[in-house]
Order: sequence, then structure tokens, then C-alpha cells
Amino acid sequence: MAELKALCMKCRDANKKPTMQTMTNPVVTKNEKNRYSAKGTCGTCGGNMFKFMSEADAKAMM
Ligand SMILES: [Zn+2]
Repeated sequence: MAELKALCMKCRDANKKPTMQTMTNPVVTKNEKNRYSAKGTCGTCGGNMFKFMSEADAKAMM
């Protein structure tokens, strides 16, 4: 499975900005507006992550 990175709201840098972390156990879903998104767990802190994806990225994850 491709590695997915997303901004983690808990893993912040020295400037308190969210940082890109690897999403583990991503679950890709498609909503009623045909938008793909992924939900998963932050590989660094274990917090919940959410990310909108392009159709191509979503299909690569499926
Ligand atoms: Zn995190």
C-alpha cells in the first residue's frame, strides 16, 4: 500500500504549526459529492487524521 502523509494537528513544530506525518491504517471513503478522503492514525502520536484526496491518489490506496 502506498504511504500516505497528512498534516497532524497534534504534531506541531517549534512554531506551533501542524507538521506532515505518515498516516497509518488509512481508510479511503468517497462522499456523496464524489470527493475522496482518508481517515487514519498518526504514526507519530497516534492521534486521528483526516485528509481530502484526489481521485487518482484514492485509487492508488485502494
Ligand atoms: Zn501526530
